[in-house]
Parts: sequence; C-alpha cells; structure tokens
Amino acid sequence: MASINGDWFHSRSSSNLDELLTVRKLVLESQRPAYIGFGWSGGRHDNVRMYELAAAGNIQPSTMQTKVRAMIRYGFIKDENTCPLVWTRMGSLWNDLYTGGNFSAARQTYELTLTISLAIYTFNDTSVQYSINPAIGGMPLKFLLNILDSNNSITLQEFEVLVDGHTRRVGENTSYWKRDLINSGLFHEVNERLYYTGKYPQFISEIKNFEPDPLLTDEDWLIIRDNPLVEISPFKNSIREIFEAIIQEQNIEEEITDGILTTPLVDVISEQEELEIPEIDILSSDSRFAQSTRRVRNTTWSIRIKRKYNYICAVPHCDVQGQIFVEAAHIKPDSASDGETPHRAHILNGLCLCRHCHIAFEKGYFSLTDNHKIITSPKFNDIPDQNLKTAIISSSDIKIKNRVDNRLPLIEFIQYHRVNRFKH
Ligand SMILES: [Zn+2]
Repeated sequence: MASINGDWFHSRSSSNLDELLTVRKLVLESQRPAYIGFGWSGGRHDNVRMYELAAAGNIQPSTMQTKVRAMIRYGFIKDENTCPLVWTRMGSLWNDLYTGGNFSAARQTYELTLTISLAIYTFNDTSVQYSINPAIGGMPLKFLLNILDSNNSITLQEFEVLVDGHTRRVGENTSYWKRDLINSGLFHEVNERLYYTGKYPQFISEIKNFEPDPLLTDEDWLIIRDNPLVEISPFKNSIREIFEAIIQEQNIEEEITDGILTTPLVDVISEQEELEIPEIDILSSDSRFAQSTRRVRNTTWSIRIKRKYNYICAVPHCDVQGQIFVEAAHIKPDSASDGETPHRAHILNGLCLCRHCHIAFEKGYFSLTDNHKIITSPKFNDIPDQNLKTAIISSSDIKIKNRVDNRLPLIEFIQYHRVNRFKH
C-alpha cells in the first residue's frame, strides 16, 4: 500500500463525541415499540416514520443514516438494518458508563473503541473499498505507525499526501482521518505535526507487527469487533490489560459512585457471552430516562446472576431449576448504604435462588460463611414449611453450588449479610 487509501469511512460524519451522543438518542428512540422491526436504513422519500425517528436526534433522515453507519464502522453499533439499533459490547459498555455519569471511564472506553476500529479496518481496491477483515487489504493504522519518524511524528503535509494520494475525495479525508486519530487518543497535533501519544504501548506494538490470520473469517472479525476480549481475538491480552488499568485508575481516584463501573468492566472481562436487554420504553424525558436506566441495569444484573448459576438454585440440596423458577438475590441488599465496593449491580453480590430459598435468605434464616458454606439460623424452627427447611438445613455446612465461571461472591458482601440480616 503506497498510501493510506483515504476513503476512510467516506462520510460526512465523524467520530466526535457529540456525534456519538446524537446516535445514543437514536438508539433509545429506536427501542420504542413503535419502531421495532422498522428499516432505519431504507428509503427516505415520504417515509413519515423515518422522519420521526430522525427527529429524536434533531436531524434529517439522510444525516441520521450517515451518522448511524459511521458509528457501526467505529464499532459502537451492530450492523443490522432494522430497529432497534443495538449497541455492540463496547458501545454498550460506553453507554452504561456514560449513563451512570462515570465520564472518565466512559471517555476511555470511547477512545479504546475507536482505537480498535482504526486498528482493524482495512482498505482495498474493490468497489466496497474497505473490509472488516484485516487479511483483505492494507491496514492503515499499522501502515501509519510504521512510517513515523524517529520522534514518532509525521508532518501534516506528509499525512495529507498519504491520505489523499489514492482517492477521488482529495482534501476531505484528511480532516476525518486526523480527527479520528486524535479522538482515539493515539495522536495529538502540535505545530503542523501529528505525534503518537504513546498510548497503549503493548497494543500499539502488536498492531505494528500484526499479520492477520488468513483463516479468520469476516464472521470471526464481526465477533472480535463486538467483543475484543473473545478467545479468537488476536489483541485480547493487551486489551484486557487496558481494561484492568481503567478499573485500577478508577479505584485509585475513588470516582465510583455506584456499581455501574465495576459491573460492566468485571463483566466484559469475566464473561464472553452476549446479553442484550432491549431498553424498551425508555422515553426521552430525563427523569423517566434515569429511572428506566436503573431498572434496565437491575434487570441486566438479575439475568446475569441467574445465567452465572445456569438457572439452578445455589442452595446445595435444593433441586429447583429453570428460568422461570429462579430469582437473583442480592447478598448485600440493594437498599444498604454504600460501602467500600459498589454493591448494587456488582456481579459478585448475587446468588441465584428459587423463590423459597430467596425469601429464607432475605429474611436471614440462612447465610454464608466466609468459605461460602451454608449456615442456618436457630430461628429456622419458627418456619412451618417442612420441605423448604429440609432442603436448606440439610445443606448446612456445605458450600453453595458453583457458578459457571467458578467465581464466588465477595466476602465483603457475605459479611454484611451475616452481620445485618442473619438471625443469630
Ligand atoms: Zn432453593
């Protein structure tokens, strides 16, 4: 590749945060029941619903389509033609953090998503001009990183020649490309030069030396773009380290105000499966929005906990199982005030229990030891239900059932339950 074949996303839309915020409004609007199944990318002429959907972002339909397509290419939205618009794993993580007011972590997730997108999109000479599969075409970011001078910089003039040397849209692509590189946090501009900032050194060094596996299919790359931590992802280790650094930094600064930071990050690291909760009936008014978001988050937490236990009651001798028979129980209650670790949506603050065990646990008739074994209350005799008592009492001193990921509830949460809920 003699140049960066600059039809980079060839659109009038950019990766700026305000563009993503506009698309976020469209995502919410597209999840309203009236739009489910509606083809957002279709014809615009006389299409009343298309105008209504676009109006949620305060834009025209053509602009809406451009912006959504751009966010698909930047890796925030899934490539599907009908509503609802669905976040990718990375997009959803960004949205959770942003919605929860954790702007610092949200910003880092936004930058990381752009970096991944810039790293793996490639350009080629086919009519499509680009591919999501790096084995098909040249990798522009790899190319750029490898031609930087000894100061890790390139002049804007050289950059323009590179970007516009291979396209009909001379002059236009440079600004988009430059903006994307700066928005990703990888470059900054000083005195007519672009400098690599030194961000993500491990990941960047991998990109510079990356030789794509020709056996990975387009389908594989769609999966990797959606969740860069999946097993087949060539960058999973360095990206995992970046995530862990984000968590650490957040802990140090004590910026966490609730569980929203820990949950998606722990989650994205600990589980590879996909989980989509449509945020149906989130309306535009702000108070409704906040309330619905909390509800959606609780629902998401609850489904995740149940999945972790494979929908089986965690009490060892209780044999209740099945999606409709089990519930997610908070160990440290939702209503408890905040401690050191945000607990409300923490993935290690939950047990999957059947209805009966859930009530007994909530009322403190049994609890857990620090070794995750069942302890039962002497007050248990007050309960008339013999079946329930048998299952729990016979489980005494036995460790709770394993989660599919083999992780255990945090001792901090267990101790809270034992001290504040358990009937001694
Ligand atoms: Zn049970």
